[in-house]
Amino acid sequence: MNRNYMNTSFIIFITSCVAIVITLVILLNFNKGTALAMGGVDKVVDEDVFARQRKRMVEEQIAYRGVKDKEVLEAMEMVPRHLFIPEENRSYSYYDQPVPIGFGQTISQPYIVAFMTELLRVGKDDVVLEVGAGSGYQAAILARLVKQVYTMEILEELGKEAFMRLKAMGYDNVEVKIGDGYKGWPEHAPYDAIIVTAAAAQIPQPLIDQLKPGGRMVIPVGGVYEVQDLMLITKDASSKVIKKSIIPVRFVPLTRTKKGNDF
Ligand code: SAH
Repeated sequence: MNRNYMNTSFIIFITSCVAIVITLVILLNFNKGTALAMGGVDKVVDEDVFARQRKRMVEEQIAYRGVKDKEVLEAMEMVPRHLFIPEENRSYSYYDQPVPIGFGQTISQPYIVAFMTELLRVGKDDVVLEVGAGSGYQAAILARLVKQVYTMEILEELGKEAFMRLKAMGYDNVEVKIGDGYKGWPEHAPYDAIIVTAAAAQIPQPLIDQLKPGGRMVIPVGGVYEVQDLMLITKDASSKVIKKSIIPVRFVPLTRTKKGNDF
């Protein structure tokens, strides 16, 4: 009798252990399955890594070099730069350098984006024109700081990609136009600020004309594949234009070859 009782307890114990192990295995697999179905554990980890890299980028590359505007620093920390960079170059997103975005073009170095944005001294009611949409990254930074951004891109494929990316990310205050930005976008002029992110041999007169009195324009000026001058152009209240050279920079050239359509 006693022995039988021992046997029964032992069987119950073993059965319970097996049941617990089976339950654990099922639960673990279920969690793994759920995580995978939700886009993968790796992706969540990546976003975390990118967010930390972005924080360091702001501290070590941008604030460290003297950019002080709090809103600019915040925008640089908020906008996920890696989503503007093609997959094969994504690991370089937060490096202290420009990164290729296809079609022979580059997204500017983070510090230069922040520095040029700070120079524009934009406010939340401003309307801004960008020439050289590229990936759309600079437009996204500006979109967080101003009322409306109009950005132009001469390469159709890049412009369309930038347009779709910005829409998918919810930047509803950015419009993209395919076309030669040398001539500006007169329909929405005058602008509080204009930023040109490709180097021009000389300052395009149509852009000066489309700047509001009291407005600011930032533009790299100089020859192709040379060191260029980053210029700050201000138009005072009486429309007098003042040009100031700020720092040496190196940008891809402003081209004049293709004609584009609006979309
Ligand atoms: N601001 C971009 C990077 C710009 S790279 C970003 O944040 O990613 C310069 C861009 O200017 C390139 O995409 C190039 O195709 C574009 N570009 C060159 N000449 C142009 C022109 N005349 N009008 C409009 N875009 C031009």
